[in-house]
Amino acid sequence: MGIRECPFCGQRISDTFRDCPHCHETLPGVPRKEAPVYVQKKSRVRRGLFYMMVVAAIYYFFSPNSPLKLPVPFAPILTTYLLPVFFLAGLGMVLFGLFQHVRE
Ligand SMILES: [Zn+2]
Repeated sequence: MGIRECPFCGQRISDTFRDCPHCHETLPGVPRKEAPVYVQKKSRVRRGLFYMMVVAAIYYFFSPNSPLKLPVPFAPILTTYLLPVFFLAGLGMVLFGLFQHVRE
């Protein structure tokens, strides 16, 4: 970790920054690290599973069987259509990630 000078404002900053904290310009010469392709595919599966889990938790707390009674009224369209659609979207993301993993 070193110190270098911002080419835009001249302030001394750490060379680990991608943007200058003083003038907020993007610094040249620092390559952006992107995750390898296999990590992106695995993260797609993981992200889909995470979305499904979050939607399932929200659905549980909005359902009438929940021990937590929500004090705010909500439209029944939320639990009837929206949350199942989001759950299926997460499932689709998982299946797409698995499909890409198998294809390669
Ligand atoms: Zn700067």
